[in-house]
Amino acid sequence: MQIKKIFSAIIDDSRIIASEHAGRYKPTTTGASRMLAGVIKPQTSLEIQGVIEASRQHKIKLYPISAGRNWGYSDSMPATDHNVIVDLSLMQGIRNYDPEMGTVTIEPGVTQQQLGDFLRAQGGLHVISVTGSSPEASIIGNYLERGFGLLPVMDHAYSVMSLRAIMGNGDLYQSPLLSCGAEKSASLFRWGVGPYTDGLFFQSSFGIVTEMTIRLARRAESTQVCFIEVGDENRLWHALPLLRELRESWPLETLQIKILNGYYTLASMGFKKDDIDAAGGYQRALKRYDVPPYTLMISVSGASALSRVMVNEIRHRFSFSRRLIVLNERLIKIGRLAAPLLPAKMKHKISSAESLWSLLQGQPGTAMIGKIPYFRMSNNANLQLDHPAQDRCGIIWFALSLPLTRKGVEDFQSLTAYAEKDCGFSPIVNYTNYNHVSCIGLLAIVFNQEIETRLAQDCYQELMTRALGQGYFPYRLPSFAAQAYFDEHSVKLNRQLGKLLDPDQIFSRQC
Ligand SMILES: Cc1cc2nc3c(=O)[nH]c(=O)nc-3n(C[C@H](O)[C@H](O)[C@H](O)COP(=O)(O)OP(=O)(O)OC[C@H]3O[C@@H](n4cnc5c(N)ncnc54)[C@H](O)[C@@H]3O)c2cc1C
Repeated sequence: MQIKKIFSAIIDDSRIIASEHAGRYKPTTTGASRMLAGVIKPQTSLEIQGVIEASRQHKIKLYPISAGRNWGYSDSMPATDHNVIVDLSLMQGIRNYDPEMGTVTIEPGVTQQQLGDFLRAQGGLHVISVTGSSPEASIIGNYLERGFGLLPVMDHAYSVMSLRAIMGNGDLYQSPLLSCGAEKSASLFRWGVGPYTDGLFFQSSFGIVTEMTIRLARRAESTQVCFIEVGDENRLWHALPLLRELRESWPLETLQIKILNGYYTLASMGFKKDDIDAAGGYQRALKRYDVPPYTLMISVSGASALSRVMVNEIRHRFSFSRRLIVLNERLIKIGRLAAPLLPAKMKHKISSAESLWSLLQGQPGTAMIGKIPYFRMSNNANLQLDHPAQDRCGIIWFALSLPLTRKGVEDFQSLTAYAEKDCGFSPIVNYTNYNHVSCIGLLAIVFNQEIETRLAQDCYQELMTRALGQGYFPYRLPSFAAQAYFDEHSVKLNRQLGKLLDPDQIFSRQC
């Protein structure tokens, strides 16, 4: 396909990449592999409109990416072959920051790092809700995927107040309040008037989002993180209702709960499967590296008085725990000073705590990226450690929405046991609360891309089938599984809307 010929009237030649030169877009973490028709890099909405028009004429399929770092889900790869990737990374506008209201308007190419730097340069009154992904990952790509972050406003889709997009039929979409000229209300009231139509652009393929206004979190006076070590499963069952009660009796947006299993903790400290094997297996590795079978991580931020009260409350409710450590500014400073004098396993813990601390302060980093996806690499020599796809790491996230109950966790454990026993993948698991009663159970299927890609993808598909049998479904799909899902289960209304909004099906996935 002559993409230069087709698009050069719209986009400068230097921003059109023919398929044979698109090598850097091809590596994936999920092992998915597709034929690409090329890459184009528009800079303006007008260019995108032109691209869509030309694609309709020439029956070209498009796949938008904002940063293409959707590792473990879709990387830069569409679900089908012969797409032209629309790389939006050059659209980096940041506008309308309102320090009083805490809202800002951004374009697709704006990364976590850029928005974080921008807010610091504006006085640091607000912070972004950072993900464990790369500083170079975009905000818009993550929010459209309904990703979640660490700080307040962790539910990213929920913090989108309004947006503009260009649909597959070439029309401009604006949130209803933008459409009637009510810019001010549009940045404050996400639901607009009439049917909520912004939702059509999340996890869909109806158009290209060209800008988004999001709500930010105010920098907290104080942040505290309680690490509660749980020595066995019985104590975990005891802890679960306490966690729900904590959220229900303190309904704070800024209270976040995670449950990490030992594998997750080891992998996020940078230990690899080889280290676990060398220690003589999982149980011995837990002992050797002083890692508990389960860790409850409860973060709270806000006024100092509030976080003090919360920490006392948490200490009181979880007094049965094996060990409870409160990470705060003071402990970080002490750890930094003491680190050179401490044994290696303590150094590991301090360095992980420091990385987490920066994320909680709204500073994205590569600490997570450089560890969990590399769990199956035997050594890190010659690896970039900041781009798992280019380093040929294998990772697929199996992410299920679950009740935060014993039954929910047991159901998820039965799935992770399948991944471990039948497929041989270490159960690297965390649970992150979504609200006071539900959580996302997250299994990282980390695999060796040379020999296990098929096994990992089949394992994922089987997990999806089994989860559906239990009444659950992933909150977000990797591209290799998306197509089958949409073929089998797509909602009739979405298909009808697809015909209206993208009549020539120029976008890759039809939900
Ligand atoms: C170790 C590790 C940790 C991670 N931690 C997290 C985490 O904490 N939270 C989390 O949510 N994810 C996490 N991820 C997954 C992933 O890396 C992130 O979600 C990342 O933010 C994806 O962003 P992106 O900008 O690269 O998305 P992109 O790849 O650019 O886009 C993602 C999706 O949105 C669509 N899209 C993008 N831009 C547009 C647009 N302008 N218009 C229409 N559609 C568009 C794309 O087609 C694609 O389907 C993690 C991954 C790894 C490996």
